[in-house]
Amino acid sequence: MPDAPIGFIGLGIMGLPMARNLMKAGFPVVCYNRTSSTAQALAAEGAKAAGSPKEVAEACPIVITMVTDSPDVEAVALGPKGIVEGIRRDGVHIDMSTISPSVTRKIAARLKEKGAHMLDAPVSGGSWGAQSGTLSIMVGGDAAVFQRCLPVFKGMGQSIVHVGGNGMGQVTKLVNQILVAGTMNAVAEALVFAAKSGADLEKTIEAVKGGAAGSWQLQNLGPRVIKGDFAPGFMVKLQQKDLRIILDSAGEMHVPLPGTSLVHQLFASLEAAGFGDEGTQALAKAHERLAGVEARVKG
Ligand code: NAP
Repeated sequence: MPDAPIGFIGLGIMGLPMARNLMKAGFPVVCYNRTSSTAQALAAEGAKAAGSPKEVAEACPIVITMVTDSPDVEAVALGPKGIVEGIRRDGVHIDMSTISPSVTRKIAARLKEKGAHMLDAPVSGGSWGAQSGTLSIMVGGDAAVFQRCLPVFKGMGQSIVHVGGNGMGQVTKLVNQILVAGTMNAVAEALVFAAKSGADLEKTIEAVKGGAAGSWQLQNLGPRVIKGDFAPGFMVKLQQKDLRIILDSAGEMHVPLPGTSLVHQLFASLEAAGFGDEGTQALAKAHERLAGVEARVKG
């Protein structure tokens, strides 16, 4: 049974169920959330709430962050009362947010100056995966530190792969996001074509999902599109944050990403129309507007 406390900073859509799963796996959790009511709610379930990221790092040999974007991880790690001020010698900061690989490497370098370590461990699998403890976790950083943290990862995920040094977990997650965005675009385009052709949308999905065209997006998000369910598992505005990081990284390397750029623009049209807080399956709405048809089942 694990006994060292695990620190958890950032109790949002993803972080809260991930922290709960660590508690279910037997880890004592010390938590911090910017909006303190969420941390108090987890404290009522048995966690200990701390007053700052620094306090979390003082109390725990392993500190996880699950916040929004690169500047947010920088703020909780390197800002006033941040992790770096409290981290122990040989302590580990595991960042599970999706952020820029270069910001990750900068934070890893600052922690190294304190004799501590960083792992970048972004995840795939959405809020459903966070709740069920079945996330895919792609980890960058020192191999021995990864082995030390493996039991903690197993408390939150199923597929856990060490992919290389600091920043390579984030690079792998960006690859994941290129695939996810492009596939969602294909699903949206295909459903609009099917609707305009007068096809039975439920039967169309049923017929193609088990073949070569099958995908997680078609299987899980296709049925939501045709039922008009645009509630977020993963919000359009967060997908846009990831696509911006991808296009910036690609720009630095002079790698053209024509397909990803197109999807970024289509998502921008959704944000302009006020759909930024909806789930990424709302991409269908952009194609529906272009084609003048809705891909919905009646009733
Ligand atoms: P979310 O629900 O918006 O939660 C964000 C969390 O970060 C909240 O706890 C928020 O605190 C905290 N936070 C944000 N900025 C902060 C700052 N500057 N200082 C301190 N705390 C800050 O987002 P989420 O969906 O959980 O996503 C978290 C990360 O996981 C993102 O990097 C996202 O790209 C990635 N991700 C999400 C999914 C998904 O399906 N949702 C899937 C894979 C990966 P408050 O409560 O005070 O706002």
